[in-house]
Amino acid sequence: METPSQWSAQQLAEFLVAVSAFADETRAVQGGIEFITEAFEAEVGALIDRGRVLAARGFPADRTPNEMLVESARGDRDTVEIPGVGHCAVLCVPINFSRGSGDLLVGRSGSPFSREESSLLRAMARVLSLTLHNLRVVASLRARQELLERLVAIQRSISTREPVTGILDAITESTSALLGGELVTIHFRETDDPGTLTAVSTYGVPESRGESLAQRIVGEGAVGRAVAENSLVVIEDYQSNPDAVHESLAFGVQAAMAAPVHDHGETVGGMTTSSLAAGRQYSMTERELLLSFAELASLALTDARTVDALHWAVDDALHRALHDPLTGLANRTRLLDRLDNAFELRQHDEYEVSVLYVDLDDFKTINDQFGHSTGDRVLVAAAEQLLASVGEHDTVARIGGDEFAVLIESLGDPAVANRTAERILNLISARSGIGSTGVSANASIGIAFSSAETRSPEEVLRNADIAMYQAKGAGKGRAVTFEAAMYEDLLGRIELEADLRRAVENDELEIYFQPIVSLEDQRIVGAETLARWQHPTRGWVTPLTFIPLAETTGLILPLGSQILQKACIWFGNWQAAHPQAPRLGLSVNVSAWQIQRPEFADEVVKAIAGTGVAPSTLILEITESVLMQDVDSTLTRLHELNGMGLRLAIDDFGTGFSALSYLRRFPVDFLKIDQSFVAALRSGEQTIRQLTEAILVLGSSLGIECIAEGVEDAAELNALRDLGCRWGQGWYLGAPMPPDEFGEYLASYPLGAMPDPVPRRATRGLQDQQGRA
Ligand code: C2E
Ligand code: CA
Ligand code: CA
Repeated sequence: METPSQWSAQQLAEFLVAVSAFADETRAVQGGIEFITEAFEAEVGALIDRGRVLAARGFPADRTPNEMLVESARGDRDTVEIPGVGHCAVLCVPINFSRGSGDLLVGRSGSPFSREESSLLRAMARVLSLTLHNLRVVASLRARQELLERLVAIQRSISTREPVTGILDAITESTSALLGGELVTIHFRETDDPGTLTAVSTYGVPESRGESLAQRIVGEGAVGRAVAENSLVVIEDYQSNPDAVHESLAFGVQAAMAAPVHDHGETVGGMTTSSLAAGRQYSMTERELLLSFAELASLALTDARTVDALHWAVDDALHRALHDPLTGLANRTRLLDRLDNAFELRQHDEYEVSVLYVDLDDFKTINDQFGHSTGDRVLVAAAEQLLASVGEHDTVARIGGDEFAVLIESLGDPAVANRTAERILNLISARSGIGSTGVSANASIGIAFSSAETRSPEEVLRNADIAMYQAKGAGKGRAVTFEAAMYEDLLGRIELEADLRRAVENDELEIYFQPIVSLEDQRIVGAETLARWQHPTRGWVTPLTFIPLAETTGLILPLGSQILQKACIWFGNWQAAHPQAPRLGLSVNVSAWQIQRPEFADEVVKAIAGTGVAPSTLILEITESVLMQDVDSTLTRLHELNGMGLRLAIDDFGTGFSALSYLRRFPVDFLKIDQSFVAALRSGEQTIRQLTEAILVLGSSLGIECIAEGVEDAAELNALRDLGCRWGQGWYLGAPMPPDEFGEYLASYPLGAMPDPVPRRATRGLQDQQGRA
């Protein structure tokens, strides 16, 4: 027979094993009470914590006489009347919980409880308390672990800028899970109706009930109050609470708590958790949990809005970085970016990438004559016309002052680019008349395609640019398609330009003289100075190549004065050496760029000063085109030079604009009949012959001497003579030659005098210093 103490120890050990086996607090409590009730052969058993029955045994479900049990635990009576059981002996011992102490109670209708039984129940209460504590620690560690994991996941998704709705969903889900499967909702204030809260994320709410949670009013219900008061609101007696919201009451909510959600410190919504479980109470940890998850929602929101604002600012800056502010078109950077993209797609056979480089013709003139605001309007109009000319997938960009580019991506039809170019040319020339100014712009277009050889997007753009220059060179207002040879040309030009610059800097250009001859008696009356350049590797480069190059690079200014200088020095020396010789004319070609500079007259004075060259023997050859541009200042300059006693010749006469009226206005002394007329004389071409005759008649009627150029044989010479032409130049009469050779040449041929200036001019500035030899 076991002694009561042995029996007790046995019971206690079994109890310890039993309750330790439970995985969580709730089950441990329930299982513990069952064990105890059986062990004491009692009808009822209960665990009471601060007036609340945590677990009970011996009563039908939902019929636990909570108040009675609490009552009997508090009282110190040994017996009590239990409904459905009758008169019972009661044993009640205190049990420790983390938040304070509760009661462990058993009731039995049979024999009263012994002292041993009383101490056994106390011991069991300690075991249960300890077990529950351990379980709680483990549970809280587990919960803590889960909480941490969820927090980290949410924070990570905030920091990786996942869509804010997804983050809010993760927050409601985690909160629900951590609070034991509650209904969790986040509401936001309506932007245009801040008194209304709308659910943006819910978890655990059955679909059928979603509607009832969708909207709340600020100030009403848990979340309404949390927003209004900007603090945590806990309602644990929901069904009887005056703040309860009808829909939630109907849904059966027993307890709810809500925390405010902020955005940049402003209350913009709230997060609610509600429970359908009777008697639900929220622990401090749970309250803090809700607060911290609401904070997380705030963080996500603030971050999202910040990111949105940031995105907006970045987009804006990006737009500004990629677009032209005047026309709103893409800029060069964006064009290259698009071109890059297109280039990658190009790997497909059928895919064509083409670029049109569009440059307005004479835009500088528009700007100069009508002012910049008109210029801007022309650009904006051109941008509109470009957009109207291209397809919706094409990119139009402004890549420089008056330079635009169109990127065309088409499938297998290169003709699209040509058709687009045609449309642009038509539209721009037809529509760019600007209001009352009557300005109309035209454009030159270069077209380039990406081919197997093109290595980079920049290259396509550059090729289009090169083709555009060709279009300009070919007379503007047209489109030219890039060819590989153009690039070679360009490279050659660039190289040549550098070489020419060096040659000019080192004063390496030479002069040749070509005799000017009297056709009557073949006496030499003068010479034309022709520039010559011996390139270190290319040999002799024709002035037809390097003079235009010098003109586009500005090198013509130093080059021109070097030639003038050299010619004057040589001629002055020769004349000094041959004081008996007749006064020979010295012809020097002068470019428009030189003539237009106000300093030009001074330069000429300096060039002849000290060389002994008489101003009246110096003939400046200018082309007709010089007379056509910038008429007033040219007129001033020419009169200035004429006033100094210099003489002027119109070079290549007949090939230019032939606005003969200018011959009356400009102080012209000579017309140089272009060699194409002379060449036509040989073939006996009648019209040309008549034209040449007309020029000669015109000349003599205006008192202007004519010099025929490019006389290559006796037939030409005779034809010119027959027409009454007195002066000539050409291989037949004497080829261009170096100065030394020319000196010898002069020594072996008869010399004559240049014709005197026709006395049709009233004023003559400088008097010839030397007089007639
Ligand atoms: P240009 O002023 O018309 O010069 C006459 C050109 O005809 C010269 O060519 C000359 O060599 C060439 N020529 C002479 N006789 C004949 C002939 O019987 N038949 C043919 N077919 N051609 C003949 P070049 O020296 O090559 O000069 C070409 C052009 O370069 C010149 O044409 C002139 O416009 C320009 N140029 C030459 N030197 C200078 C210079 O110092 N300054 C400027 N601004 N231009 C120059
Ligand atoms: Ca000439
Ligand atoms: Ca000429």
